[in-house]
Amino acid sequence: MKARIIDKVVRVLHTNHSHPEKRRILESKERLNFACPYCGDSTDSVRKKRGNLYWNNLQYHCYNCSAHESLDVFLKDHNENFEGEERINVINFIKENRKNFSLGETLEFHLFEMANNLSLTFDEIALGFNVYPINSLTYRAYPYLKSRLLHHKTEKFGYDPRRKELYVFNLTPKGKIVGFQVRALDDNSGPKYKTWNIERIYDRLKKPLKVSEEELDSLNKISMIFGILTTDLSRQFTVFEGPIDSFFMSNTIGLTGVKKQILDFDDIPTVRYFFDNDIEGKSKMIQKLKRGNTVFMWDKFLKDFRIPSKKVKDLNDLVKYEYKHRTGCLNELDKYFTNNHLDLIFI
Ligand SMILES: [Zn+2]
Repeated sequence: MKARIIDKVVRVLHTNHSHPEKRRILESKERLNFACPYCGDSTDSVRKKRGNLYWNNLQYHCYNCSAHESLDVFLKDHNENFEGEERINVINFIKENRKNFSLGETLEFHLFEMANNLSLTFDEIALGFNVYPINSLTYRAYPYLKSRLLHHKTEKFGYDPRRKELYVFNLTPKGKIVGFQVRALDDNSGPKYKTWNIERIYDRLKKPLKVSEEELDSLNKISMIFGILTTDLSRQFTVFEGPIDSFFMSNTIGLTGVKKQILDFDDIPTVRYFFDNDIEGKSKMIQKLKRGNTVFMWDKFLKDFRIPSKKVKDLNDLVKYEYKHRTGCLNELDKYFTNNHLDLIFI
C-alpha cells in the first residue's frame, strides 16, 4: 500500500510543480516530505519541503500554509483519490489511527481554542487547592522568587503555605490557568515537582470535562507545555526545558512532565532550542542541530563572556549571574544561536 500511496503523491507533485527539485519526495520511516502542493511551498527556494504525510496516521500537514488534511482529502483535493476497496482501506486506517497525531501537527488547531475555553481563573482553582496569590509579604515564597529574580512575575505563581508548595502556572493570553506545576519549597518532602494537567485539575474540582478521549489526550499535553497559548509560533520562539527559564525571555515555551518528552516542534521553521548547560541538555541540542534545528551554543557563549561554566546551568542562573557581574551578555544571546552543524563543537 505504501508504494501505491507514494505513486499517488508523485502524481500530485507532478501536476502541481514544474521544477524537478520541487517534485522530489524525501522518504523516511515516519513520513513523506515534499514541497506542499496546496501553497506551492517556498517562492525563493526550490529545496524547501514543508509538506509532510505521516505514515502512522496518514495525515498531511504543511508547515508553510498550515494545510492539514487526511490522505483521503489530500488526494481528493488534487484529483488523485483511490477508488473502491483501496479507498475504504485508507479511510479505515485514518479512522483507526486518528489518535496518533503528534502535537506538532495539531498545534494550530481547534484544540488551542478548546484549551482557552477550558482554562480556569485563579479563584476557580483556589476552590480545590489551598493556593493563594503571592505578594511581597508572602512568607517563604516571595523570598524564594526574589532570590531567583522572579519577584516581578508573581502573576505566574501561587503558594500553598500549609504544604509549603509553590505553584507555577501555565497561563492563557487572558491570564487564566490551563495547567500547573507544583514545587516543594522545603527540602525534605517527596518528589521535587508534581504536575497537574487539565484532566487532573478538573477531576480535583469535580468539574465535568466534556471532551472526547482523543481531544483529552492532546489537551493534557497542551496544558503541560508552558506558554504554548501565549506564544506566537509564526515568529521566532524559544523552547526551554522547564517553565521557569522560559519566563526570562519573551515568546517562549517551557517543557515539563515526568519524561521531559520533547514534542514535535522540530518542523516549525521558527523554533529554536535553549536547553540546560549540562550533558543531558547539550546532547539533546546536538541531536536537534544535527537534524537542522537552531540551538544555543553554551560553550561559545560562556567562553566569550568569561563566565565559569560551573556557575551557570540554565538561563535563570545566567540572569542571576548577570545581576551580580553586569557583563552585558544578556543582550547578546541572539547571536549565540546556530543552525550550522559545523558549530557542533561550540555547544
Ligand atoms: Zn502548504
